[in-house]
Amino acid sequence: MLVVGGGDVAARKTAALLRAGARVRVAAPRLQQSLCALRDAGSIEHIEDEFHTTLLDDCWLAIAATDDRATNRRVATAAGERRIFVNVVDDAELSSFQVPAIVDRSPLIVAISSGGAAPMLARWLRERLEILLDHTLGPLASLLHRQRDAIRARHRDLGARRRFYERVLQGRIWHWLRRGDTVQAEREVTHALHERATPLGTVVLVGAGPGDPGLLTLRGLRALNEADVILRDRLVGSEILELARRDALRIETGKQAGAHHATQQHIHALMLEHARAGRRVVRLKGGDPFVFGRGGEELEFLRAHDIPYEVVPGITAALACAAYAGVPLTHRDHAQSVRLVTAHCKESLDTLDWRALAAERQTLAIYMGVAQLANLRTRLIAHGRSADTPFALIENGSTPQQRVISGRLAQLDELAGAHAVQSPALLIVGEVAALAQTLAWYGAPPLQTPPIARAA
Ligand code: SAH
Repeated sequence: MLVVGGGDVAARKTAALLRAGARVRVAAPRLQQSLCALRDAGSIEHIEDEFHTTLLDDCWLAIAATDDRATNRRVATAAGERRIFVNVVDDAELSSFQVPAIVDRSPLIVAISSGGAAPMLARWLRERLEILLDHTLGPLASLLHRQRDAIRARHRDLGARRRFYERVLQGRIWHWLRRGDTVQAEREVTHALHERATPLGTVVLVGAGPGDPGLLTLRGLRALNEADVILRDRLVGSEILELARRDALRIETGKQAGAHHATQQHIHALMLEHARAGRRVVRLKGGDPFVFGRGGEELEFLRAHDIPYEVVPGITAALACAAYAGVPLTHRDHAQSVRLVTAHCKESLDTLDWRALAAERQTLAIYMGVAQLANLRTRLIAHGRSADTPFALIENGSTPQQRVISGRLAQLDELAGAHAVQSPALLIVGEVAALAQTLAWYGAPPLQTPPIARAA
């Protein structure tokens, strides 16, 4: 390697190169103190001269770290002509490669690069990762390196190998590593190698939350990271899938209107097929799997077929939409209970207890109601809810497309129509809905009047 320059920046780069095991030649008429020390110790070769192109002979990599842009440019040009990678410190334009910020858990290295666009941001992120990433990762990586051939020989199939690693990495190995006991840690691995692996697949029902990927739970995230197969509903956004294991098989199971039964059967068949093949299936649903999500039916089916399952709750639309619209569902001055109600078709409206729904001092959170707004308004008012009761209708809650329409019950369908509200939207009816006007914090402020018609 050639480092051009003898100042502090050159010294930093030289030190990093030496740590990586490089043989370093430093070209500069004068060296600062720490470089002098390295020279005297024989750790670097010092060329006591200005840069000249022959210095690049037998060189793999060059770093230009002088404070003279003309010199730096000469180094870059000469290196380019010889097809030697060159980095000019703090000059993305002249560089043919960038030096990433690193978190060093050798032999494991995490490199963070912004491609020269925002090195400070990369450094900031590095500091955060330093905190997150345990120092035992280094010894662990070395240990796994030693065991690699044995593991490959025992588990020839890639899927089996991955499951083996996950089992080991979820186990007690950390406990020993944190105590610095690599012998015991290694014993954990050899023990695990001789256990019989269980081929039985599982299904985890995961609630993905309403849209904002930040509202996925940690447990949900872990399940997504371990999944072999992900069956997802259409309501689940692609940002959440980005968090899942890259090579998991992803299957969209969107429901076609009118074909609910067939779709549900199909989902059951898919879960069964993949679980029986020994795969870890994640059934990913919008919101919470047990709130209007048919999670119950899926568990009944799995139980009937002896497939082990788990359920990871998610943040249901009512809670998320209320939070993101600034509507405290049970503000003590206004409401003592919340009801989660579905209103997806006229028939389902007929079976509801309207007298109870129209009662005062409670909040209604109505799912799947966009097509039934006029019906909802007339029935609630007919059964005694005041026409003045506030409502908030939240479309695409917790996503960047969120819109909140708020007003009084009497104008519910009129306002929604004027703003062309579409599914998915959640309707909140009750005094607390009025608080959206003062407490809203996310996205645009609530829309309270019809859009102004454009003058012809
Ligand atoms: N299991 C889901 C509900 C599925 S029913 C949950 O717990 O949230 C689908 C209905 O949920 C939609 O019609 C809509 O009323 C509501 N919904 C889901 N996501 C929503 C969102 N991001 N914004 C507003 N409403 C949403």
